[in-house]
Amino acid sequence: MLDVRIFTLYPELFPGPLDIGLYKKARSKKIWSLEIINIRDYSKDKHKTVDDTPYGGGNGMLMRADTISDSLDKIIGKKKKEKIIYLSPKGKQFNQAHAKKFSKLKNLNIICGHFEGIDQRVLETQNIEEVSLGDYILSGGETASFVFLDAIIRLLPGVLGNKLSIREESFENNLLEYPQYTKPQEWKKKVPPKVLLSGDHAKIKGWRLAQSEAITRRLRPDLWQKYITRNKK
Ligand code: SAH
Repeated sequence: MLDVRIFTLYPELFPGPLDIGLYKKARSKKIWSLEIINIRDYSKDKHKTVDDTPYGGGNGMLMRADTISDSLDKIIGKKKKEKIIYLSPKGKQFNQAHAKKFSKLKNLNIICGHFEGIDQRVLETQNIEEVSLGDYILSGGETASFVFLDAIIRLLPGVLGNKLSIREESFENNLLEYPQYTKPQEWKKKVPPKVLLSGDHAKIKGWRLAQSEAITRRLRPDLWQKYITRNKK
């Protein structure tokens, strides 16, 4: 079971897109759990302030260190081993291999930043891993947390029915997925490649691998390099 906690200023956004289909079912089957912590509840002043202007000046507001830190201390307490993630453009860029690694954990605490981000001292005093979704700026960590968790939850045992569907997907083995086709067999005068209708499984496998290799080589030279190094071609 993966216990997920979200530290956010917008609790009403959750579980949001994580509450559909197989993910909803998996949560009711206790494959994963979700606890939402409203950072604002840990503000000590009567206006429930969570942000302030940055020292040294500059645009926008920053999330104060004390409120975030208090929420972490109260909720996680001394269970120091728990993983704490801060979703941040400065973090290491998230990928499928990281998703796999995180899917093996028992706990994930996720801090969703807002405004211009959070006071640096929080990151220095707690053991927090910064994770970025990519080289662009979002308005808050909440949307990032949906993407982050979506990628992780589907890897938890028992969430997807067909384990093979995970093994053959893009980024497994550093290859992008081969093209796929379904009914109708003829559509706008186009038909699927003949080999897929042949019933010859070995041939189909070979065709798919060749397609994956060609597509990866053309579209993602970076992945292609990793693939050929690993496979010593
Ligand atoms: N001023 C910051 C950006 C703050 S964006 C900077 O220049 O680095 C506000 C919040 O949105 C961040 O605290 C973070 O939690 C979230 N966020 C924005 N872009 C993100 C990204 N690419 N990956 C993960 N989280 C992101």
